[in-house]
Amino acid sequence: MNTDTRALYDQFVMPTYGRFDLTIERGAGCRVWTEDGRELIDFGAGIAVCSLGHAHPRITTAIADQAAKLVHTSNLYRTRQQAVLAEKLVGLIELPGKIFFCNSGAEANEGLIKLARKFGSATERHEILTFKNSFHGRTMAGISATGQDKVKAGFAPLLDGFQHLPINDLDAVRAAIGPKTVAILLEPIQGEGGIRLAKPEFLTGLRELCDAHNLLLLFDEVQCGLGRTGDWRGWKSIVPQGVEPDGISWAKGIANGFPLGGFWVGARSLDDRGPLCDLLGPGMHGTTYGGNSVACAAGLAVLGEIEEKGLLAHTRESGKYFAEALRALNSPLVAEVRALGLMIGLELVADFKEQIASTDARPPSLVLTTLLMDNGLLVIPAGEKTIRFLPPLNIERADIDAAVGILARVLAPAARTT
Ligand code: PLP
Repeated sequence: MNTDTRALYDQFVMPTYGRFDLTIERGAGCRVWTEDGRELIDFGAGIAVCSLGHAHPRITTAIADQAAKLVHTSNLYRTRQQAVLAEKLVGLIELPGKIFFCNSGAEANEGLIKLARKFGSATERHEILTFKNSFHGRTMAGISATGQDKVKAGFAPLLDGFQHLPINDLDAVRAAIGPKTVAILLEPIQGEGGIRLAKPEFLTGLRELCDAHNLLLLFDEVQCGLGRTGDWRGWKSIVPQGVEPDGISWAKGIANGFPLGGFWVGARSLDDRGPLCDLLGPGMHGTTYGGNSVACAAGLAVLGEIEEKGLLAHTRESGKYFAEALRALNSPLVAEVRALGLMIGLELVADFKEQIASTDARPPSLVLTTLLMDNGLLVIPAGEKTIRFLPPLNIERADIDAAVGILARVLAPAARTT
C-alpha cells in the first residue's frame, strides 16, 4: 500500500473538495495532530460538528458501548435509543411535535421540502421561498433551495419551485408570495453565507406572513441549532419570544461527528388532515440508516453533556469573550466581526490581499485560512471574504486566547508570510 496519503487521495478519491494540504490523524478536545506530527488548534470543529471537541470520553464510551450491543436494525423495527432521543429533542426545544431521523443536513432539508410539498398538495401549491447566500445542502433539492449560483452550475435542470429573496427584506417576501407558495425556508443565521443574522423583526414578520397565507415556516438549523448560539434553538438567540416554526432541520452538532441528522415537525392541527407532524405517513419517507442505535446513543450523550455541564450559558459567555477579543484587535484588515454564541464570522476588508501584498490568486478567506493553518490554527472560510470560528462549545478561555494570539500574529504586518 502507498504510504503517502495525499497520493492515495489524488489517485482514488474524487476531487470534489478544495481540500487543504493537511492529513489529520487524531484529535483531543480542540486540538488535532497531523500524520507528520504537527499540532493545531481546531476552531472549525469539523464545520460546527464536534460540539464537545475531539475524542470526548463520554461520546466515545456511548458509541463503543452501543456498538458492542447493537449497531443497526433498519427502520422496520423500533430501537430504544431513537425513541428516547426523539423525546429528548422535543423536550429541549419545548415545542410539541415529532422527529424524523436521517444521516445528514442535506437529507434533513430534503425531508422538510417533501413535507412542504405534501402539505401543499391538497391546495396545489409547491413553491418555497428561500434566501440569497443561503446554503441547504448538496442534494438536487438542496442545491435548488440554496441561494448561491456556484453550487448549481452544471446541474440543470434543477428542482422547480424555489425563489431566492434578499434576507431581512420583508417587502420582498410579501411581494413574492403567490398562489403557489407553500413555505418559507431559511437559516436564521446563515453559516456558509458568512455568519449573517436574520433580524428579529424579519423573523417575526415571516411568522405573521406564514400565518396570514397558510405557509409553513421552516428553519434550517443544521449549523446554528442545538447549542451553537447558546440556545437549543438558534432562532431564539435572535428573537426570544413569539416565533415558532413549523419545521426545523438539524445535523452537524447533534452527535459530535457520528453521522446523524433529523427534522422536527410541529403538532399543529390541519383539521381534517390531522396534526402536521403526522402528515408524512407510512411509506411516504424513509432511509435505511437514519437514527440507528449508535448514532442516537451518540446524540443522547452529546445533548446530555451540553445540558448537564451548563454548556449553553458557557457558549454565550465564551462567544461574547471571543468576539470582544477579536474586535479589540482593531485590525485595519478586518471589516466586521459578526457573532452569535460560538458562531463567529470575521469579515475581511475588500483590499485584504493588496494590503498584505499577497500574490495568492484565491479569495481572501482562503488566503487567510491557509495562513492561519500554517501558523497552527484551523478555521473555516465562508464565502469570499469571511472566515468562521466554530470552536467546540466547551472551549476554554486559554484556548480562545491562544487562537486570538495566532490571528493577531498573522494579521500583524511584521509576521506576514505570503
Ligand atoms: N444546511 C446548512 C445550514 C448547512 O450549513 C449545511 C452544511 O454545511 C447543510 C444544510 C448540509 O448539511 P450536510 O453537509 O450534512 O448535508
